[in-house]
Amino acid sequence: MPSVYIETYGCQMNVSDSELMYGKLRAEGYESVDVPHGADVVLVNTCAIRENAEQRVIGRLGELRRDLKPGAILGVTGCMAQRLGARLLETDTRVQIVVGPDAYRMLPALIDGARQGERFSATDFDLEEHYEDFTARRFEGVKAWIPVQRGCDYRCTYCIVPTTRGPERSRRLADVVRETRDVAEQGITEVVLLGQTVNSYHDGTHDFADLLRAVGAVEGIRRVRYTSPHPNDFSDRVIAAMAETPAVCEHVHLPMQSGSTAMLKRMLRRYSREDYLACVERLRAAIPGLGLTTDIIVGFPGETDGEFEETLSLCRAVRFDDAFTFKFSAREGTPATRMPPEWTVPDAVVDARYDALVATVRGISRERNMARLGQRLEVLVEKEARKGDLYQARSRDFKTVLVPGTADSIGRYLHVELSGTTGATFTGTPVAERHALPMAG
Ligand code: SF4
Repeated sequence: MPSVYIETYGCQMNVSDSELMYGKLRAEGYESVDVPHGADVVLVNTCAIRENAEQRVIGRLGELRRDLKPGAILGVTGCMAQRLGARLLETDTRVQIVVGPDAYRMLPALIDGARQGERFSATDFDLEEHYEDFTARRFEGVKAWIPVQRGCDYRCTYCIVPTTRGPERSRRLADVVRETRDVAEQGITEVVLLGQTVNSYHDGTHDFADLLRAVGAVEGIRRVRYTSPHPNDFSDRVIAAMAETPAVCEHVHLPMQSGSTAMLKRMLRRYSREDYLACVERLRAAIPGLGLTTDIIVGFPGETDGEFEETLSLCRAVRFDDAFTFKFSAREGTPATRMPPEWTVPDAVVDARYDALVATVRGISRERNMARLGQRLEVLVEKEARKGDLYQARSRDFKTVLVPGTADSIGRYLHVELSGTTGATFTGTPVAERHALPMAG
């Protein structure tokens, strides 16, 4: 049986695509292996969102080239494959196949061709392609990543995704529900719905509110999450569905990117600082105890000290539970690269702003977490923690809680008291799920 190894970079959409590719190749008689050494086919599933993500892949391809067994096929898939296409074949003569996100159906045929010495790049978009007949080979046993939408119709000026993943299109609600039922039957209790702007989901008949309610009603599913929404697509219907569907977790990852309306305009985010705040207020009013996380970019072209201050002040106003912070990375072909060169923010300024942002975000997160010590909540044990004999668990509002346990604890729900925090993550002490009722007097 030929073997295949896939190395995945980037976002959860790529993790999900790797699961689909493994599934397709398994159906064609391949076995999956977890090291590249000795594999018959090695695929690198890549990310193009930042310059350093691509540089890492180029470095990694060099290492893999040296390790490949004679006759093994080396392929590049994903967003970087889509962006560079046949250029990758020219610059790296050991790479034999280059496959974009809409062409994974061709993988078995391309691998067969590579065995005959062919080299091929497949990067056409296919707006009908959702890989409905593929059965994902899932590696995580606790939660399932379920793509519900591919591509993006927003055109944020810094973002390469509309180029690498094409226009937005949604899967049919019935197909998503079918996949959710399948994973529930395998004993998985949490699903994460994936899309570039997932709450703009619309299959022609059903919107994201319908989808949340339908997936949340599948028997055996106790938790529904989704990532990443766009602030403009939180209709009242979507917020109501979130609030009224018990399985939908009380957490939203709501990308903010900047706290300055002028900057948001240059980024073409299509909302203002006030719009963003209003969205946060609507979500918090409808969903008590909502966990809120975000993405923020510093050093976008033209960012002034005042605009950066507005980002800090919006962080203080919202008080996020956590934030992913990024230094702007110019991507070839995006509108941001055509902005006036004098708008470029010097590296030293970007570094200083980045440090200030991280300190602000961490400080707020720490304060919020300290205030929660002693609270009791339900966590789902996901995996072994990196250190000690603890296990990593997750609350509904997306807090990481380290708990004692054994390998059998993975996949179980526990009730814990938050007994300690590093400021970022918690330790939890298991408590009885139900407390004895007071004796009648
Ligand atoms: S919404 Fe903007 S940042 Fe998100 S994928 Fe689409 S273009 Fe990129």
